[in-house]
Amino acid sequence: MLKSHNIEINTKQYQYYGEKALIDIIKHELCHYHLHILGKGYQHKNTDFKVLSKQVGAPRFCTLIQTYEERANYVYQCKSCGCQYLRIKKVDVKKMRCGKCMGKLSLIKRMN
Ligand SMILES: [Zn+2]
Ligand SMILES: [Zn+2]
Repeated sequence: MLKSHNIEINTKQYQYYGEKALIDIIKHELCHYHLHILGKGYQHKNTDFKVLSKQVGAPRFCTLIQTYEERANYVYQCKSCGCQYLRIKKVDVKKMRCGKCMGKLSLIKRMN
């Protein structure tokens, strides 16, 4: 939160990503705050941000915070058992089969 300079981390993120990834997230967020306080370019596209995040070894984007579900663009459903699968990239339904019953999958929804 840039106004308060608090960092919010929920326990779900901690459980999901583990300690190493969370340290990366915190490093990344601290880069935002540090530059914001100094009145420098604190956005991802700013050179100040790119340089600082590289110096401290932080990832350049906050993408880690998004869950797999949030990043998924495609929803596939098994034609036999109705089981649904979320995928970030498009998959070949001729090759990919349902993990439970080996049934054929079809694309039922496209997000974004
Ligand atoms: Zn960020
Ligand atoms: Zn199935």
